[in-house]
Order: sequence, then C-alpha cells, then structure tokens
Amino acid sequence: MNARSPEPGALAAQIDAAAAAIESRVIAWRRDLHEHPELGNREFRTAGIVEAHLHEIGLDEVRTGVAHTGVVGLLKGAFPGPVVALRADMDGLPVTEEVDVPFASKVRTTWNGEDVGVMHACGHDCHVAILMGVAEILAGLRAQLHGSVKFIFQPAEEMPPEGEEGGAKMMIAEGALQSPVPDAIFGLHVTSRLPVGVVGYRAGPTMASSDRFRITVHGKQTHGAAPWLGVDPIVTAAQVVLGLQTIVSRGVDIAREPAVVTVGMIKGGVRENIIPDSVEMRGTVRTFDEAMRDDIHERVTTLAEAIARGSRAGCKVCIQKNYPVTVNDPALTEAMLPTLQRVAGPDRLLHVPKVTGAEDFSFFQQVVPGLFFFVGVTPEGVDPAKAYSNHSPRFYADERAFVVVVRALAQLTCDYFDRHG
Ligand SMILES: [Zn+2]
Ligand SMILES: [Zn+2]
Repeated sequence: MNARSPEPGALAAQIDAAAAAIESRVIAWRRDLHEHPELGNREFRTAGIVEAHLHEIGLDEVRTGVAHTGVVGLLKGAFPGPVVALRADMDGLPVTEEVDVPFASKVRTTWNGEDVGVMHACGHDCHVAILMGVAEILAGLRAQLHGSVKFIFQPAEEMPPEGEEGGAKMMIAEGALQSPVPDAIFGLHVTSRLPVGVVGYRAGPTMASSDRFRITVHGKQTHGAAPWLGVDPIVTAAQVVLGLQTIVSRGVDIAREPAVVTVGMIKGGVRENIIPDSVEMRGTVRTFDEAMRDDIHERVTTLAEAIARGSRAGCKVCIQKNYPVTVNDPALTEAMLPTLQRVAGPDRLLHVPKVTGAEDFSFFQQVVPGLFFFVGVTPEGVDPAKAYSNHSPRFYADERAFVVVVRALAQLTCDYFDRHG
C-alpha cells in the first residue's frame, strides 16, 4: 500500500470545484457541436475539435481515425494503477431540428440518397462536450491520479450508413481497448425521460439487444378474381405476421426477461385485383438475454418458413444482428453506487426500468466490465413522460445537467482508482 494524498474526499472536492469552473465552457462546446452536427462515420469536424482539445490539455497519447473518425486519448496518472475508459458517442441523426434555440442546426446533407436535415437529436453533442470537460479536469489532476484514463470518442453509434462498418464494434476491432486494456468502462446517455440532473441506473441487463429481420414471401402471381390459379403471398404474409406475434406470447419465458418482436414494414402488390408474386416484411427483435436472442432468431426463421410452406409459398428470412444487450456489470454497478449517489444528491439517484432501446456501448461491455447510466435533461416544470424524447426534432437538453455528468464521470474514475489501486 502506498500512502495516498490527498484523501479521496479532498480529490472529490477538487473535482467539484473544477467542474463548476469548466461548466460554461462545456456548454459553449456543446452549443458549437449542436449547431454543426455530423452523421455517423462523417464526424470530421467533431473529431478535429476533440483531437485539438486532447492535444491542448496534454494527454500522453491521442489516436485518431479509429473506426473512421474515432478519437482515443490516454492520460497517464502520476501513480500506477488501474485503467478506466470513458466513452462518448459523437454522431447526429438525419432529423430536421425544430427547437427554437439560437444554436439550432441548419445543416443539411445527403443520406441514403435523400436530402435530409441533420440534428443532434439524441444528445451526443452533450456527451462529447461533457467528456472534453472531464478530460481537462482529470488532466489537471494528473499529479494525484493513481491510474490511467482512456477517453473514447466514438463515431456512428446510431449505425453507420448502409454498406459501411463503424461504431463501437469497429473501434474494438481497431484496438481501442488495447494497450492499455481498460479494467472498467463508464458511459452514459442523456435522456428526456428523467428530470434535469437526475441520475438513473440499473444492474444487469439494462438496454435491449437490437436486431433486424427481412422476410420475403414468394408466391405465384395471378388475377385477384382467380386466386386458386396462383399462390397468394399477401395472405401468407398476414399469417406470418400473426405467427411471429406468438413467439413472445407463447414461446419464450417472459417471466425471466421481456422481449419484443415487431413487424414494422410490409410491402406487396400494386392493385386491388392483382395478386402479386411476392411480399416483403421488415421488423425488429429486442431482447435482454443473449440466449433468448438466439432462440427468438431461430423461431422467427423456422416459423416463417413453416407457415410459408403450409401455404405452398417460398420464404427467405434474413436476420441482421445489430447491437447486443447492454449489461451493466452487477459488481461494478454496486461498487460505484455510492459515487453516483453522492454526485446526484439525495432523492436524485433512481433505479430505472429496462429500456427496449439499444446502445452499442454493449460491445465495449462484452470486453470489459462496464456501467452505462442515464442522466435527465428535461427542464424543471416539464413532465418527463410528456417531454419530446431523444430522436424527436424537438428533443431539448437542459444544459444544467452537464455539470452533474462531468462530476459523475470524473468521480467514478477517481473512486475506481481509489478502490482498485
Ligand atoms: Zn439515439
Ligand atoms: Zn444515443
């Protein structure tokens, strides 16, 4: 054991003071990023700002171009100790902003061949600005740090453009979690579903896996007045849609974990009296358990194929695995709760329900124990249940939450060092 000075309490007080001092700059960074959002794998300006900042505050290493536009910074504390990774995602969404703020985005771009507005409608601008602030604070406390910090600025959390790879999975493939390997990783999401500054957490499965499927039913074209001369893919597709709904209701143990199977698109036919050749359906599967995930995929395939066969139709099922379940390491979550409690304040740390949305932070958690938490950005006086949600063109983030998150990430890091040094 080496002597530690100052006490963790003193370091916490320094972090709080530094967070208060940097708050206005974090807000300014966020407004600039908000006004200039970039889609996944196109975060060139954003990455440039992050890179310049990490160099300016004197990090020991700054790697750029990781998974296209990702930036990974390394800060070595004065004393040896564990490695903590902190992650922020950087991409905006193809959404046209409708929020009336002076720094609203007017950016437009081409996405999947369409002219679209671009907006930080998921709040990743907040994540980037906050992590820039945390990096500066921890760099300033380097002489007191018993460990190293890896700052991961990640592209394309909202999925890369079609035909491209990207995001957390690609960052890992390109060595973001190597040399050094983190002992723990922390990340968060700002959310409209909690009041400003309120911190939400849960241990174990927290956000769902998200996979998409495409089912094509191949029939035989005929006149709508003489269906017996063909094979009707519309009726077969209707049976497939209903059949898929029995997977969750009849086939999986929903007492263990919930699951969702949704068909969100169905397309077939051009005219009321022509039975078409084929019908295409697309949908999504959400689960909170990797074994249930595989089981449901298998059931979607066999059920759709069997129903089609029973109708003498053909059927092709393609399932694309996107994001795994976001699982917060139970021991890590438990260990860090006092930190979150201290930062959030009395009655402002909530145990929250599972979220059927997905996060590619889950890929990092498959490699190192991780904790992903939520911080509310809905202003006082607005009911979070009715606030415009993340991804809405009217999603609004109350910047008063930022200082709470800056403190949370910096304190989690130092408390982790203290515990595992
Ligand atoms: Zn999002
Ligand atoms: Zn997001």
